[in-house]
Amino acid sequence: MEYFLTEEQQTIKGLARKIAEERVLPVRAELDEREEFPRAIVKDLADADMFRVFIPEQYEGLGGGCLELCLVVEELSRICGGVATTYAVNALGCYTLIEYGSEEQKQKYLPDIAAGKKLAAFAITEATAGSDVSGIKTTAEKVEGGYLLNGSKQFITNAPEADIYAVIVLTDKTKGPRGASTIIVEKGTPGFSFGKKEKKMGIRASSTGELVFRNCLVPEENLIGRAGAGFIQAMRLFDRSRPGIAAQAVGIAQGALEAAVDYAQQRVQFGQPIITLPVVQDMLAEMAIQVEAARALTYAAARTVDSGARNLTEAAAGAKVFASDVAVKVTADAVQVCGGTGYMRDFPVEKMMRDAKVTQIYEGTNQILRNAIAMELRKRKGRTV
Ligand SMILES: Cc1cc2nc3c(=O)[nH]c(=O)nc-3n(C[C@H](O)[C@H](O)[C@H](O)COP(=O)(O)OP(=O)(O)OC[C@H]3O[C@@H](n4cnc5c(N)ncnc54)[C@H](O)[C@@H]3O)c2cc1C
Repeated sequence: MEYFLTEEQQTIKGLARKIAEERVLPVRAELDEREEFPRAIVKDLADADMFRVFIPEQYEGLGGGCLELCLVVEELSRICGGVATTYAVNALGCYTLIEYGSEEQKQKYLPDIAAGKKLAAFAITEATAGSDVSGIKTTAEKVEGGYLLNGSKQFITNAPEADIYAVIVLTDKTKGPRGASTIIVEKGTPGFSFGKKEKKMGIRASSTGELVFRNCLVPEENLIGRAGAGFIQAMRLFDRSRPGIAAQAVGIAQGALEAAVDYAQQRVQFGQPIITLPVVQDMLAEMAIQVEAARALTYAAARTVDSGARNLTEAAAGAKVFASDVAVKVTADAVQVCGGTGYMRDFPVEKMMRDAKVTQIYEGTNQILRNAIAMELRKRKGRTV
């Protein structure tokens, strides 16, 4: 399929592929096995200016949009979904600053993130607040000298490795969701520590942990935008970042498809390579169609984000739901095509199957996103835009 990428977009995609194949591929199984954060690869990505891709030029970025981010995430995911998660969530943390930060906040944080000197994270989930984010309990009480944070966040990607955390807190607990705000908390702030490190099914090269705030005093200038705007900011950010999760799903599925085709060409049973068997051909063809359809929807959603369109929910959520469902199905089918070998951990498709699952869960479960799409349909009575 021709996606009419510009020369610059093709260069970015090519560079991401080179890093993925040369630097990630040799260590992906080991990173997964040891559940190890990919520090050396983060440095490789920084050296190749990959963290500059999605940051505006005035903050030392390359000024790329959602599509450029998706191209990098897809290429990294084709080799390792875990490495891609680290990269994509860093971008989500940055989007908070790019979209809602003051000029001072952008100047303070974005150039270091662009250079790969600092990593960002985004924290909304708590034990009582998953799909229902209005259940957050972490408070930020206004006191002399800033905000005093108390509470904890769970399942936070890039914790404890990240340096800059965009945290959604209640600055006014009497107002419920309208009392939520986004506050930047830097690693090393007294009263901010890290709790449990999660052991995961997949994306094990990424780090997922708990943030704990105990009388953590954060300067007032770390408030992002207006107090009380935290939830609306978060919902709009997810509309921008969900195509990135869709791209992760597309990349994982693409990797699995390629591995399955290679295997089917080499594996001989009943005197012939299994790729000559109509049932196997049928599976592979269906996988290829699904991956391409997911890619087309993902790029279209990313381009919708980059167009400046106001209502992004349907495009972004639709791409994320479709691509993640495809990734789960295609990776499972890849294991099937590879038979017993596919089930073994020294062959990559079982990891891809484990990595794919989370794309149906984070940044809004697919059930929640289907609800959101249905709400949009109800609003416009099913009419096309
Ligand atoms: C590896 C990983 C990394 C993550 N990284 C981050 C991060 O960096 N920052 C962050 O803030 N969070 C992060 N999360 C949290 C993630 O966004 C949540 O797990 C997700 O939103 C779902 O919340 P939950 O796990 O509490 O599930 P629940 O909300 O408890 O849902 C359980 C089940 O109920 C269903 N359900 C719930 N409500 C409804 C409804 N109204 N209609 C239909 N079905 C419903 C869900 O779809 C799901 O199937 C991460 C999670 C994982 C697994």
